Amino acid sequence: MIRNTEKLHNLLNDVRTYVRERWHPLENTVEELDDVPESIVDELRERGFFGWSIPEEYGGLGLTTEELVLAAFEISQASVALRARVGTNTGIGSEALVADGTQIQKQRWLPLMAAGKLTGSLALTEPEAGSEATNVQTTARLEGNHYILNGQKRYITNAPIADVFTVVARSEPNSKGSSGLSAFIVERGTPGLRTGQAYKKMGQEGAPVSDVFFEDCRIPAENLIGGQEGVGFKTIMKVLNKQRLHLAALCTGPAIRMLDLAIDHTQKRQQFGQSVGNFQLIQAMVADSQTEIYASKSMILEAARARDEGKDVSLSASMCKYFASEMCGRVADRAVQMFGGAGYISDFSTIERYYRDVRAFRIYEGTSQIHQLNIAKLVLRNHSGL
Ligand SMILES: Cc1cc2nc3c(=O)[nH]c(=O)nc-3n(C[C@H](O)[C@H](O)[C@H](O)COP(=O)(O)OP(=O)(O)OC[C@H]3O[C@@H](n4cnc5c(N)ncnc54)[C@H](O)[C@@H]3O)c2cc1C
Repeated sequence: MIRNTEKLHNLLNDVRTYVRERWHPLENTVEELDDVPESIVDELRERGFFGWSIPEEYGGLGLTTEELVLAAFEISQASVALRARVGTNTGIGSEALVADGTQIQKQRWLPLMAAGKLTGSLALTEPEAGSEATNVQTTARLEGNHYILNGQKRYITNAPIADVFTVVARSEPNSKGSSGLSAFIVERGTPGLRTGQAYKKMGQEGAPVSDVFFEDCRIPAENLIGGQEGVGFKTIMKVLNKQRLHLAALCTGPAIRMLDLAIDHTQKRQQFGQSVGNFQLIQAMVADSQTEIYASKSMILEAARARDEGKDVSLSASMCKYFASEMCGRVADRAVQMFGGAGYISDFSTIERYYRDVRAFRIYEGTSQIHQLNIAKLVLRNHSGL
């Protein structure tokens, strides 16, 4: 749903121009520094980029799902690290509060997240809870007016720089699977909370990822999201259903950018007395990539509109995330091919970095295999009328 066409048009134009003029020249620096410069983070705060998905009453833009994915197509047409700086606040790091937080919790944290004064992060994955996300071992024990958290979270985006963590922990001892899980807000600085060293990764330099440790970490009982125990996994599924559409859009922007770069290169590069872009075998890669980008955009927009209409998008969100992340990998591979040797050499092109950056899309927020299983499960359930 688009609430105000002109306002949205202005936002998209602003993002498009900003990404091209400000971010594209910075991509190498961000990779070398393995950090997004604070001056850029200040610009993102001033432009309101941190608050896209946070409701207006809490200082955000309150974008609808359709508006959010349209903005995500634009902001993701640069190195992943740049959009990842705001990405947890506009997605997994704030959404549990938006979906299920109490009024008091929303008022306390969302305005600061919308303003970019606090960086949020979602800590679900653990050493023994990856694809089996319900196998959470982190415990939360109620003691008077506090919960005591113990456990370890793994591969948490923005953990090294986050101020506020949404943490999933087992509040019901001896429970199994999704029952007995609760979601909490934990603030940096709470004794017993520690983040690990940022990992060395295959790509996405500048988007820090680390472990998070809880060692008798004592948090006020009022930090239980929604004030209700045992519903943490339901909250996280709400977060992920929306986030899968958001992430699918964030997988589509890099594909658009890679194809642009590859077309430019093939038009300039001369072999056999002409641009390599004249060769039909190169044009086939352009056609396949453009077709898949179009398919990705179309399905994401349709699912986003359905979500805005209040429809259940569990199946379509899963299909979008699966298709868009795999599509982006295929476009990355073709783009390297269209660049030839220059696509493999980072001194000659940014395609080598994109190729590495986008590889993670097929792994996080549900691997492709988990989405295949989920899609099949939902289709087969509908098929048998159960
Ligand atoms: C860069 C990065 C950032 C991340 N950010 C976050 C974050 O911010 N917050 C967070 O909570 N998590 C985050 N994650 C974790 C991410 O969601 C997990 O890595 C992902 O869910 C996969 O879990 P795993 O790594 O344990 O893989 P595993 O579950 O060990 O999977 C290994 C392989 O087995 C396959 N597999 C597993 N089960 C099945 C099955 N039943 N059938 C078929 N195949 C199967 C998988 O598809 C995969 O190919 C991040 C990960 C990365 C790499």
